[in-house]
Amino acid sequence: MDEQDYPEIEDRLGPLGEPLERPRPGDWLAEHREKGQTFPQYLAGNPVRRDAKLNTIYLCEIGECDAAQRVVLDLTREFLALYFDAPVIVRRTGPTVAIPNAAKRKHPEWGDRQLLAPYVLHDVLEPDRPGDALAYLAFTPRDLWAGDGWNFVYGQADLRRRVAVLSIYRNGHPAKSDEAFRLCLRRTLMTAVHETAHVLTLLHCTANRCLMNGCNNADERDTRPLNPCPVCLRKLVWNLQVEPVGYLRRLAAFCEAHGFNDAAWFGRAGDLHEV
Ligand SMILES: [Zn+2]
Ligand SMILES: [Zn+2]
Repeated sequence: MDEQDYPEIEDRLGPLGEPLERPRPGDWLAEHREKGQTFPQYLAGNPVRRDAKLNTIYLCEIGECDAAQRVVLDLTREFLALYFDAPVIVRRTGPTVAIPNAAKRKHPEWGDRQLLAPYVLHDVLEPDRPGDALAYLAFTPRDLWAGDGWNFVYGQADLRRRVAVLSIYRNGHPAKSDEAFRLCLRRTLMTAVHETAHVLTLLHCTANRCLMNGCNNADERDTRPLNPCPVCLRKLVWNLQVEPVGYLRRLAAFCEAHGFNDAAWFGRAGDLHEV
């Protein structure tokens, strides 16, 4: 079968790529040496890919969310379904998941109660991952840390084993105000899509401003766009084999409906691709 690899996405949408600025002290790229990943490098890595067998996203909730957080999670499910063109099914909820003391801690200086992200990935999710899971994601209102040397992480994914975990602990409280709700929603969407894209073996992007940029702090996270850059969009479209124009317009409509100016990029990309 001659399959599509969508070179026109990078050709036509090239003008929408915004090269990354030099990292400032404390930014992700100031502290982590990363080379990025071109489209040919992505293919050469034999990525996890959506196919007839792996076609559903499953969720596991760990810990109890309040009513406002629940609205955020429901919208995040909706966004994930659009972004990964797949049904998103809640498989397990809070009280059924027990985390042993060895995988919990109080942060030694800050006092935040945290769960060990690798434990969630490999001991909670992996043994319970359905055979048709393209991705099995855990959401938690608890803070996460990734083990020795880490203060906290927003989320963590395994690039081969189709599992990821993300926390809404550092996303602000959505019940405070409309503005706080929108900020919490945008941060949660950002982390959810970023980690799920890692599950599809996308590495951090160093080429352009992009949903797949690494981030170290709230400032970096809040200035990162909800859209992929043209290179990372090509990886997603190839992975999911979606028709790009309709795909971009559905994402534009969601962002528009929730007041995110990321809608403009998706809209322009859809228009440019269609011409
Ligand atoms: Zn990442
Ligand atoms: Zn990118």
